[in-house]
Amino acid sequence: MSNSSEDCIFCKIVKKEIPSKIIFENDDCIAFNDIKPASPTHILVIPKKHYKNLIEVNDKELLGNLLLTAKEVALKHGLTDGFRTVINTGDNGGQTVYHIHVHVLGGRFHKWPPG
Ligand code: AMP
Ligand code: ZN
Repeated sequence: MSNSSEDCIFCKIVKKEIPSKIIFENDDCIAFNDIKPASPTHILVIPKKHYKNLIEVNDKELLGNLLLTAKEVALKHGLTDGFRTVINTGDNGGQTVYHIHVHVLGGRFHKWPPG
């Protein structure tokens, strides 16, 4: 498993090679604003280490850290009325960037089921 992928846009964000609005960072993960927000608050939480998607990750600690970070970031952004967390996996899951990420969506009501 590589630590980063040469042509991965999120690895470039981790390495600060392309700009992003980073709102949280620790040793394992970063959170930044989605470039095309689907909700008033739309944050992406990603591990610094490159994994294509959920199918590739078996590290319980990493997955736990990602979810806990998503929750903390959501609450820090005032989403105390609730929020939507989403992990799109693979083509049928609607994944477009192949570096695992958790979407944190808030600031409006989110319907279920999604499209
Ligand atoms: P997904 O479709 O689940 O793979 O989500 C990928 C997300 O990454 C989309 O919501 C995009 O808007 C977002 N995105 C793509 N490029 C960037 C970027 N350079 N900075 C921030 N968000 C991005
Ligand atoms: Zn990557």
